[in-house]
Amino acid sequence: MQIDVLTLFPEMFDGVFGASILGKARDKGIVSLKATNFRQFSTNKHSTVDDYPYGGGGGMVLKPEPMFAAVEHLVPHEGPRPRIILLCPQGETFTQRKAEELSQEKHLIFVCGHYEGYDERIREHLVTDELSIGDYVLTGGELPAMVAIDSIVRLLPGVLGNETSAVTDSFSTGLLEYPHYTRPAVFRDWEVPEVLISGNHARIDAWRREQSLLRTLRRRPELLDRVALTPKEKAWLQAIAEQESNTAGSSDSE
Ligand code: SAM
Repeated sequence: MQIDVLTLFPEMFDGVFGASILGKARDKGIVSLKATNFRQFSTNKHSTVDDYPYGGGGGMVLKPEPMFAAVEHLVPHEGPRPRIILLCPQGETFTQRKAEELSQEKHLIFVCGHYEGYDERIREHLVTDELSIGDYVLTGGELPAMVAIDSIVRLLPGVLGNETSAVTDSFSTGLLEYPHYTRPAVFRDWEVPEVLISGNHARIDAWRREQSLLRTLRRRPELLDRVALTPKEKAWLQAIAEQESNTAGSSDSE
């Protein structure tokens, strides 16, 4: 996969693209990660990329010409068109489903806004997608681009080793993931659940499924509407929900 980022601050990506799992994915040749400063596509003598908004008001607006030129420079003349993704707080909220969808693409171009925003013609005529990482406003699209890229790249085949797996991650299954424990079996009198040291994998799998369901019910019950549950699981969850709604102040101690 090829991932390009258009930004005014390419140096922000040095650490993220070079470290940990993204760095290894790049070293293994699974993904090419490149941040390009779109200021280099400005054609005026001061290399400006922003201007005052028509109609007045505070803040500067990113001009269309450098952004169009930068994207057009990255889009190959032949072959499939890449997805061109604008980071913006008004976009579709980024989810694990979206990460899975984008991980199937061959080439992604992320466009990072800054300042007050960007000329509306960039949104209307240049990009294919608009993504937000949540209902809050950041200074620029760089951190959101890093968030999206990290979650997409870790889904590419060969990126995660055996020590980590995306298959059971929260949201991949539609549920929140079950709790994890490691050695020691007893830490400050707190014991690891007996089932996990039983060596009985059928029991462990059943416990994990139950814990996932319980955790999702207690923390993100709306997710359960989109998950395939057996009639037995549905009845079990309903009984717990009823019991807990009758018990004020129930704690999250699965
Ligand atoms: N004036 C804009 C508005 O009200 O929608 C906000 C502009 S924000 C200060 C500057 C840039 O940061 C945006 O153009 C976008 O690229 C990025 N940004 C800020 N918050 C974001 C979010 N929640 N998700 C994705 N990108 C965001």
